[in-house]
Amino acid sequence: MVALTGSGISAESGVPTFRDAQTGLWAKYDPQELATPEAFARDPKLVWKWYAWRRELVEGASPNAGHEALAELERSVPEFSLVTQNVDGLHQEAGSEYVVELHGNIRRSRCPVENVTVEPDEMDHIPPPCPNCGSPLRPDVVWFGEALPAAGLEAASEAARLCDLFLSVGTSGLVHPAASLPYEALENGATVVEVNPDPTPLAPHADFSLRGWAGEVLPRLVGAAFG
Ligand code: NAD
Repeated sequence: MVALTGSGISAESGVPTFRDAQTGLWAKYDPQELATPEAFARDPKLVWKWYAWRRELVEGASPNAGHEALAELERSVPEFSLVTQNVDGLHQEAGSEYVVELHGNIRRSRCPVENVTVEPDEMDHIPPPCPNCGSPLRPDVVWFGEALPAAGLEAASEAARLCDLFLSVGTSGLVHPAASLPYEALENGATVVEVNPDPTPLAPHADFSLRGWAGEVLPRLVGAAFG
């Protein structure tokens, strides 16, 4: 069994999805114009501050019943892969142990020159310098236009091709290559179930398209199967 999650699963934890309006100071910026390498090159301070704001939101959030239901599935199903496009780390906080993070994690920073994950040790400058080489650090996330981590994508694609049941939860199905995973599962004979309050491009192809919030639908599904 495979579950692919997108930002919708964290909406009930108070972490806004990209398509929801941003609030406060950030309302005037389009996320698709901030989450790019070009934006970081043009205005690293602005992009770092936007990520610092989102990181604070995420650090103040708690996993919801949807995250918890997926952690319970991992404990209940013999072979289970959780693949997420989220960068918030809430699946791990809910107790999921094996999480493929296709888009990185906002709680980490990376040195773009050495290409290693590092923790900044001083915050006098924004972005803070790499403690090893002094280059300005960036958030350890995959931006629009960047390649996904090859090993994670290969693991996700293999799991999608081999699974019997594929759950697609809280994702708009617009951001590739993650959006292709349910189709790989369908082509290989899996049953595909979508959980989303709104119809997505996957809905007409999925075997079951469940209209509802992840925090309500997933606990009911897991309860019905294993309760
Ligand atoms: P998206 O913003 O494109 O789509 C979110 C989807 O979630 C929508 O289809 C919406 O109808 C659905 N949704 C909203 N509330 C829901 C709920 N309670 N239960 C179930 N579904 C719900 O998100 P995406 O498809 O993940 O792609 C956007 C990119 O944004 C991702 O690559 C991700 O890296 C990034 N992102 C991550 C976070 C996060 O980590 N929490 C937040 C914002 C954006």
